[in-house]
Amino acid sequence: MPQKTKRTPMMEQYFSIKEQYPDCLLFYRLGDFYELFYDDALEAARLLEITLTSRNKNAEDPIPMCGVPHHSAKEYIRTLIEYGKKVAICEQLEDPKFTKGMVKRDVVQVLTPGTYTEYSQQHANNYLVALKPLAQDSYALGYVDVATGELKGTCVQSMEEVRSECSSLKTRELVKVGDFSSEALEEMCLYFDILPSTLATEDIQKGSFDALLEDIEQEDVYEVLEGLLSYLAKTQKKSFTHLQKASYYERDFYLFMNYEAKRNLELTSTIRTQQKQGSLYWFLDETQTAMGARLLKQWIEKPLVLQTDIEERHDLVESLTQHYFERIDFIEALKGVYDLERIVGKVSFGTANARDLLQLKQTLAKVPVFRAIADSLNHPKWQKLKQQLHAIPELYERIERAIDEDAPVSLSDGNIIKKGYHEKLDLYRETMAHGKEWIAQLQQTEREATGIKSLKISYNKVFGYYIEVTKANLSQLDDSRYERKQTLSNAERFITPELKEKEALILEAEEKSSLLEYELFVAVREEVKTYTEQLQELAKAVATIDVLQSFSTVSEAYQLTRPTISLMDRSLEIIDGRHPVVEKVMGRSSYVPNSIQMSPEDHILLITGPNMSGKSTYMRQLALCVILSQIGCFVPATSAKIPIFTKIFTRIGAADDLISGQSTFMVEMMETNTALRQADPTSLLLFDEIGRGTATYDGMALAHAIIGYIHEHLTAKVLFSTHYHELTALSDTYEDLKNVHVGAIEKDGEVVFLHKIMEGPADKSYGIHVAKLAGLPSSLLNHAENILTILETNSQANISLQEDAPVEKAEVEIVETSATVEVPRVESEQLDLFTSNLDQEVLEEIKSVRVMNLTPLQALQFIDQWQTRLKG
Ligand code: ADP
Ligand code: MG
Repeated sequence: MPQKTKRTPMMEQYFSIKEQYPDCLLFYRLGDFYELFYDDALEAARLLEITLTSRNKNAEDPIPMCGVPHHSAKEYIRTLIEYGKKVAICEQLEDPKFTKGMVKRDVVQVLTPGTYTEYSQQHANNYLVALKPLAQDSYALGYVDVATGELKGTCVQSMEEVRSECSSLKTRELVKVGDFSSEALEEMCLYFDILPSTLATEDIQKGSFDALLEDIEQEDVYEVLEGLLSYLAKTQKKSFTHLQKASYYERDFYLFMNYEAKRNLELTSTIRTQQKQGSLYWFLDETQTAMGARLLKQWIEKPLVLQTDIEERHDLVESLTQHYFERIDFIEALKGVYDLERIVGKVSFGTANARDLLQLKQTLAKVPVFRAIADSLNHPKWQKLKQQLHAIPELYERIERAIDEDAPVSLSDGNIIKKGYHEKLDLYRETMAHGKEWIAQLQQTEREATGIKSLKISYNKVFGYYIEVTKANLSQLDDSRYERKQTLSNAERFITPELKEKEALILEAEEKSSLLEYELFVAVREEVKTYTEQLQELAKAVATIDVLQSFSTVSEAYQLTRPTISLMDRSLEIIDGRHPVVEKVMGRSSYVPNSIQMSPEDHILLITGPNMSGKSTYMRQLALCVILSQIGCFVPATSAKIPIFTKIFTRIGAADDLISGQSTFMVEMMETNTALRQADPTSLLLFDEIGRGTATYDGMALAHAIIGYIHEHLTAKVLFSTHYHELTALSDTYEDLKNVHVGAIEKDGEVVFLHKIMEGPADKSYGIHVAKLAGLPSSLLNHAENILTILETNSQANISLQEDAPVEKAEVEIVETSATVEVPRVESEQLDLFTSNLDQEVLEEIKSVRVMNLTPLQALQFIDQWQTRLKG
């Protein structure tokens, strides 16, 4: 930092504060502005698009500076937080009017992406995550939503699980407890756009949060949560009353899906647009409240695995489906519910205003309605929920008596408290009202006494009440009664002793009444605090009802059925299942339902069929049915028997993973590796077109070997789709492999997809037909047909993978071998397309032509010539 100019005392102060917050943009309060200096100024000016100026403009080394007005700082701060920055708010701690020398200043709060409650979107949680490394690759992980007070912790066994957690929590900030470094973690933060923050070991406030962490027995989890709460205390510089008692959870409590699986299955957003529209969340979201929407998302991210828990939700949904009117009543009641979780949070921060308390009151008013509906549903499970629906009538009463329905947002201008709530306040108000009446009367009598019709009594902040007489009328005034106060160009202002006396009374009453109103309001707000736990429980119960009604509403609208859960018997039987999202988009009548049946012994379902016929849709359909069932919803099928799965892995092709800089094929192999290594007997694996990203034989060999491996090592349920129809012969060798295919028929040389899954293998690839559908030039298509014929003849029969094919690139152990048959040696996928029967001459020409020397027209002509010759 520049040292040349002697620092002023103010800059000394600035530096001493900035030093403590090196990773923040320091908003340094100077009068009505927050000022930023040096690098902070450069960065903020750029991000906020505000003017960069400088302090000591004429000095040799002017200080870069920019500022934002104090009253509109909120928006600027929000923008910076959205950019993933941290902002330290440094306030003046003394009133400059009464201070000699430097005003004391200090940071009162640090706003960060993970803690800034104003940032949170209504329908999403904003989690701050903390991580503490344990032995090997395991970690203790804790998270908190500052707005709602949710606080949880767990242990995870690998960086992959950290990724999975962080992605489902939509983490924006991650606190490294104990300030460690990890390359893998940094990569993850970069990938998910998470701001890494650190908490030094000495900043951990040991033992300060024992009450909140009472239920945490696991020591590591205790420590990571202690770190998380210390970070919160360090940045927010106040204590919160709304933080919920920390609870411990384990990955095994939920169906595990890694980040890739959740993304591939488009649970909460689509791969292509990253939007809700088109996701499972979009399909399911008929919630009426923000709390419900947030809970729904949490349920989708964490499907259950315990049969009783799952069936409890199914029971509740079923009862709502059977009781239409009760469901409609719930929906109506939910419409009058406000965001309780957030209101309780605001009460804890001390930022709740009168409107928030009114919303709380209106919400409480609905509770008896919810309770009555729960009663009329007459089901033990509803009784359980009802016990959490606390109406808290005394709190309702209190707000009802105290807070005026028309209270303003501001807490300093009065009109918050109702008449009759507090005697003294009523007295002040009377004095004010009487005083004003009295002044109006005085104006009247003064006018009559002086005969000046334009005489008026007014008020301003500097002089208080005064009598104003225009210059023209001055002569009519009896000077002895009036004391001159102020001279204007065309009028004089006066006061009289009696006006002064009344003024003192009125002003005192006004000032005291607003102060008293504020105090009374804060007292009510403090009282709300004492109900925090009950209100949070109520909020959770209402949110649960909202999600359940949403499930029920969707189940009715899309004719979903209650699944039967088979725990011990791992057979799977979904009759006429549908992909919920695809069906919703294309309409019920266009979607062809498909069944899936796998006996306990069936492990691998090999799905063949042409491109675009519906293989991927079919596989996702199963995964989504499993997830729907395990979050407690019904499933799109006419009947469904589904075992409980504990993990889902996917390998579903998508675009290159540009952010992480890996090729599609590399990603494909990494996902495959994860799935094969981590799958257990209760896992579901989806392999969609494995090996497509590499050369044909290479890919086919890999696909074959993967199936062999699954057969040998796993008993999980595996869906394996492939366009290599040669693989279907494997059912002869592997008794746990079953072939199905997506039907297509050829009509007048055109292929028609039936989107219907049928028993047995597909007999043809139909690739060229799909190319035709896509409208490729007919000469090209003819050419392809020719090549295909040649290839098929050359290899005498279909290339069978039963044979030990001499595959160039991949050294794969091929499991079964019998006789050896000549298979054409191929170097790469494209090669044979050209070399088999093409005119060598043309090839040479293409090789030797100097592309850069050609005009586009010449190039076209060349191509035309070659084409004619080749067709020749
Ligand atoms: P594949 O994986 O075999 O190439 P997809 O599963 O991607 O095929 O399906 C291609 C398209 O076919 C989908 O986008 C969808 O429009 C349609 N489709 C798939 N399955 C069905 C079905 N069961 N009913 C109607 N249309 C379907
Ligand atoms: Mg596909």
